[in-house]
Amino acid sequence: MLIRLEKESLIYRFPDLKGDFRYSICSGSEETTPNNHFQCTVCDTVYKLEREPIEVSIPDDYLVHTVQVLTAGICPECKIFKEN
Ligand SMILES: [Zn+2]
Repeated sequence: MLIRLEKESLIYRFPDLKGDFRYSICSGSEETTPNNHFQCTVCDTVYKLEREPIEVSIPDDYLVHTVQVLTAGICPECKIFKEN
């Protein structure tokens, strides 16, 4: 099921910090817009960030299908927990 959805580009698969595969839902025009994810190093949750598209620079002779960005750090919930 997941592989079929992946082939139909409804979802895509990306490795997280630990090398485990995560799945995310595509929303149409995302192909060349970076899929910006944030992985919390405390609770391990991967968040899909909707804002702030990240600029990537690819040489003109490459045809880009997808761009994936995974940033890591501490999510808002764990940050609050850490501060208190
Ligand atoms: Zn967290």
